[in-house]
Amino acid sequence: MGLGSIGGSLGLDLRSLGFRVVGVSRNPDTCQKAIALGLVDEASVSLPTVASAQVIFLCTPIAAIAKTTLELIPHLFPNTILTDVGSVKEPIVEVIAPLWQNFVGGHPMAGTTQQGPEAAQAGLFQGKPYVLTPTDSTPATAIKTVEELVRQLQAQIYYCRAPEHDQAVAWISHLPVMVSANLINACLQEPEPTVLELAQQFASSGFRDTSRVGGGNPELGLMMAQYNRQALLKGLYQYRQSLEQITDWVEGENWQALADLLRMTQQARPDFVD
Ligand code: NAP
Repeated sequence: MGLGSIGGSLGLDLRSLGFRVVGVSRNPDTCQKAIALGLVDEASVSLPTVASAQVIFLCTPIAAIAKTTLELIPHLFPNTILTDVGSVKEPIVEVIAPLWQNFVGGHPMAGTTQQGPEAAQAGLFQGKPYVLTPTDSTPATAIKTVEELVRQLQAQIYYCRAPEHDQAVAWISHLPVMVSANLINACLQEPEPTVLELAQQFASSGFRDTSRVGGGNPELGLMMAQYNRQALLKGLYQYRQSLEQITDWVEGENWQALADLLRMTQQARPDFVD
């Protein structure tokens, strides 16, 4: 379900592993493109087309995942396994898990900045984290089936509770988008046009790194804030406190405190990324 960058990439890899992949999209053009690009064996705009599948990956935007599942459920066999790829887990798991026992929440932590079937990439999930968030009542057989598929994508599998997932991604994915967007916005507040122009001309690798996620797809950023609001707010409140502390140190010329912080963050960064 959903033949965009993630659904299409899954289709490519699963087909190359020998699985028969049937796709559904609401748009006939997307279905045609998905077939032409080799993302699926068959594609249709009709939901019941996927009813006979053993495993269904829900790959629509987050806002459509629960709604699509509600429409799909009347067509399914009781043992059909559903899994999704949404970047936020609790709002999806808490709606779908009570409705469909064989549902395993999932989040492949790999992606492209492009959208649609043309953005699909073979091997996208290889070596990347793929988080599964079953509940206490998810049947072991459903978990095992999804885990085995994900393992064949050569992704690194992690298990956690949906709220833990959402708070963790708020820290490392959703808060950075807001911080990075705010950096670009703050620079644009420079009142002197000549200085702003110079800053734009001087901007190089450092600014490219720090502004990248703030200059990405606005719909994705908005979706993060809407669907992971509480976890993001926790991050934003902590960030505001840390920023105020640094501002106080610079105002008070407390260079020792600032140096200690920068030494600590230099040491801590490799615990997050190489
Ligand atoms: P995408 O490239 O825009 O693809 C979305 C797909 O969903 C398209 O096939 C689109 O079909 C369909 N769709 C859009 N709105 C719909 C609606 N209201 N109802 C039913 N179908 C709809 O998006 P994506 O990047 O693959 O993201 C899909 C999911 O993956 C999201 O839940 C996202 O959170 C998750 N995810 C994304 C990334 C990433 O970096 N991109 C990473 C991890 C997880 P049409 O052709 O009909 O418009």
